[in-house]
Amino acid sequence: MEENSIIVRYSEIFLKSERVFRIYESKLIKNIFDHLKRENVKVEVKRAERGRIFIFTNEVKSCLNVLKNIFGIHSFSPAIYLKTREKEELAKFIRENYERLIPKNKTFAIRVNRSFDTEYTSKELESYLGSFVERKVDLEKPDIQINFDIRKIGTFVYTQIYQGPKGLPISSSGRVISLLSGGIDSPVASYFAMKRGCEVVYLHFSGFPITSKKSIEKVEKIVKVLNKYQIRSKLYVAKIGEYQLKMKNLIDPKYLIIMYRRLMFRVAEKIAKSENAEALVTGESLAQVSSQTLHNLKVIESVVKIPVLRPLIGFDKEEIIEISKRIGTYDISIMPCEDTCSLFAPKHSSAFVNEEKVKEFEKLIDINKIVKKIVKETEVKLI
Ligand code: ATP
Ligand code: MG
Repeated sequence: MEENSIIVRYSEIFLKSERVFRIYESKLIKNIFDHLKRENVKVEVKRAERGRIFIFTNEVKSCLNVLKNIFGIHSFSPAIYLKTREKEELAKFIRENYERLIPKNKTFAIRVNRSFDTEYTSKELESYLGSFVERKVDLEKPDIQINFDIRKIGTFVYTQIYQGPKGLPISSSGRVISLLSGGIDSPVASYFAMKRGCEVVYLHFSGFPITSKKSIEKVEKIVKVLNKYQIRSKLYVAKIGEYQLKMKNLIDPKYLIIMYRRLMFRVAEKIAKSENAEALVTGESLAQVSSQTLHNLKVIESVVKIPVLRPLIGFDKEEIIEISKRIGTYDISIMPCEDTCSLFAPKHSSAFVNEEKVKEFEKLIDINKIVKKIVKETEVKLI
């Protein structure tokens, strides 16, 4: 008998109160359904009881690759669904199928898990079913463990458990604006925001028309990769080249990066308002570069009221690189590209900028007027 279903177990949603749990679970079911629909896989998704979702499909293999990218899933198992809980029918199944499930010379164990009381105990059923299998038993460390999940709607038989990406279903935590630079860090930060249930709207600042449109193409590619987690994404592109050039000609180079970031945060907050987003996300880490000292982060953040999430705050660069390789954005991130900041900024910036001086510079260039203009000219794409 072929696998015809998948058991999906969910992560910490399980711990929530009944009301919150219902909301999270509905989001997860919808996300599973939409992800599989995008891949043209025909399925029936069933909520059957707390802690488990059942997928019924003839295309089990195609589903597995998709499920590993859906946040909120703890683990999943391709299974054979039997419309019965009867002892004799389960015995018939194991007699007819054990040779295929357990290769010769391999040891086995049978485990029964029931979600309610039946006329037999789990132990009784385990030894009864095991008695039909002509293979060596090893209850401690079996090569193959055959699990029988006895549920209200029937029995699911499986031997494998695949790990899901954990986290919470996307959109269960609300919406955020992620500042996506095209570097290594910000895609990883976006990934973590999604992992904790945020729906991510991306915002990229391009040096166009002073630089080329290369960085825009680059972030579009990155968003496409990140869309394996979130089905569709909005990407805002703000063109700031002209203003960066203006600042570069007027302002102490040691202050430039901080000034650019403050400009970006101001624009991002305005876009967040129009998008009903409740936080900004950046790929900043602590003290990774001189613009990211605790003091400078404070100076940057002080221009906005909206919370700023920095999922990478405790990560070393090496760790971030490892994650970006795993999620598939690394190869795009390292492609050479004249990025807004590298082109317009000096090699070094002050690790301890004077906030008053920064404010003076901003008055000099009439920052609020610039922000308004940038926001007005921002373009948005659906990817
Ligand atoms: P990344 O941090 O993405 O690897 P980076 O290291 O070049 O790129 P930093 O100078 O570390 O960028 O900038 C810190 C954060 O500021 C980025 O992670 C990103 O969230 C935001 N940021 C910087 N430049 C841009 C940009 N051009 N567009 C959007 N966000 C940006
Ligand atoms: Mg960085």
